[in-house]
Amino acid sequence: MKRILYVGFDQLNSKYGALKDSDPKSDLIVLVESTRMVTGSNWNKVRLYFLISSAHHFANELTDSGFKVIYKKAATTVDGLSEVKKKHADLPIIAATPNSFRLSKALADFGVTFVENDFFLTPKDLFNTWADSQKSYLMENFYRGQRVRLNILVEGGKPVGGAWNFDKENRSPLPKGYKFPPYLEHKPDEIDIEVAKQLGIKPNTTWATSQVGAKKVLKNFLDNHFKNFGPYEDAMTTDNWALHHSLLSPYLNNGLLHPSEVVDAALKRFEKGDIPIQSAEGFIRQIIGWREYVNGMYWYLGQDYKELNHLNGNRKLLPLFTDPEKTKMNCIKTTVSDINQRGWVSHIPRLMLLSNLALITGTNPQQFLQWMREVFIDAADWVMVPNVIGMGVHADNGVMMTKPYAAGGAYISKMSNYCKGCFYDPKLRTGETACPFTTLYWDFLDRNAQQFKGNHRMAQQLFGINRLKDMPEVRHRAKAVLAGLDSGLI
Ligand SMILES: Cc1cc2nc3c(=O)[nH]c(=O)nc-3n(C[C@H](O)[C@H](O)[C@H](O)COP(=O)(O)OP(=O)(O)OC[C@H]3O[C@@H](n4cnc5c(N)ncnc54)[C@H](O)[C@@H]3O)c2cc1C
Repeated sequence: MKRILYVGFDQLNSKYGALKDSDPKSDLIVLVESTRMVTGSNWNKVRLYFLISSAHHFANELTDSGFKVIYKKAATTVDGLSEVKKKHADLPIIAATPNSFRLSKALADFGVTFVENDFFLTPKDLFNTWADSQKSYLMENFYRGQRVRLNILVEGGKPVGGAWNFDKENRSPLPKGYKFPPYLEHKPDEIDIEVAKQLGIKPNTTWATSQVGAKKVLKNFLDNHFKNFGPYEDAMTTDNWALHHSLLSPYLNNGLLHPSEVVDAALKRFEKGDIPIQSAEGFIRQIIGWREYVNGMYWYLGQDYKELNHLNGNRKLLPLFTDPEKTKMNCIKTTVSDINQRGWVSHIPRLMLLSNLALITGTNPQQFLQWMREVFIDAADWVMVPNVIGMGVHADNGVMMTKPYAAGGAYISKMSNYCKGCFYDPKLRTGETACPFTTLYWDFLDRNAQQFKGNHRMAQQLFGINRLKDMPEVRHRAKAVLAGLDSGLI
């Protein structure tokens, strides 16, 4: 053996990273399941099931293709590598650059040599050059550059379909009685059953845990959901937990699928001619735009970014986040229950329900971030930090987003069926049955009016407060709502 190749649980792909030029004759492969990763926080067990079972499947596949693989359980990744190193002191350890500041430092300090992390489509230097040249880091500007650079949905320098972005056509609520295709289920195998047993849960049928399974998810999306992805991208419903979303983030983030593979398959499907441009463009934008932008910003903004708390949110995490029984709000109860069950909800409940609630209640951004990290199947530092600190709760004073995503019950009512039969009325801002989102939306704007005064994109929202004759009553009700949320009674 000539080298030890360390493969992280988020780099499970033999065509990329450390394994790209690997050879069973000379390379010993090491995966480490760290106690830190399993018991270090209050992790959602579905998340652990997915990550651990995927790693076991991947290790077995490597073994089947002739590699010697060590799957080590240890307190930390470095402890695991130290143990391996004891027996192979003369071998260098090679890894693809990790996806977080923390692990990059830990492995570098341990003497690991890094090769390029090519699990993304945008090299860090390229992103940094783009960011350095910008006054404000608008995703849209980055995205248009990506379309041209990667030559995707571009013809003769112009965007296919006549526009760079069809976002305005991607905001339809679902029509009444809308029917969805059946969910794709994954039959657990022996590895899944064993991992689930060790975690004390039932094997999960929602998530695939192998590359073959991940490819089936991609195919299912392209065959059954791609066409309608665009128009209903922002919709929410109690009738279907997945809507037309691809459910690909777990596999993109643990390496089982590579973004280039997903983009190529989507473009090939689009070429057949029956996928509307607003769906094709909308989906491509998520992968080559948002995903790459968020990763680029994570590294560009640095380690201290996750500690920002510009709006001085100091409320403790609300009990409803950890226990859906602590609220009568139908939207939050459903969303938190869905997360507990599957570790997933789409970007709109993440942004417009969970983050919005944390924002307008003045919840501490770091406590909220930690909770989001623990519960989502696709969570990782690089993707949660910018999405929560920047996009979700505006704790960075607008470095990423020019205005906070604050909204009242009217938005939720328009985009979902949650409000039907809910104890609270989205139209009311005062009184016992006023929707907490509606009351707190106005109270948030009122509380932070000075803060947002200079932001022209907030002018219309702030102007709205002046038209409210009952602002004193709203403030009064907001106090009661916040106290009720703190004690889990709203
Ligand atoms: C507050 C907040 C927290 C989020 N946390 C995460 C997270 O921890 N992990 C994660 O992968 N995504 C996160 N997202 C982005 C997005 O919600 C998920 O990627 C998406 O819901 C995953 O489901 P899907 O694969 O069906 O996505 P689709 O709607 O089908 O989109 C396709 C793909 O686009 C990518 N994508 C879209 N938006 C983003 C984005 N804002 N950031 C990064 N990738 C994006 C994902 O890879 C996703 O799989 C977050 C968004 C918000 C607003």
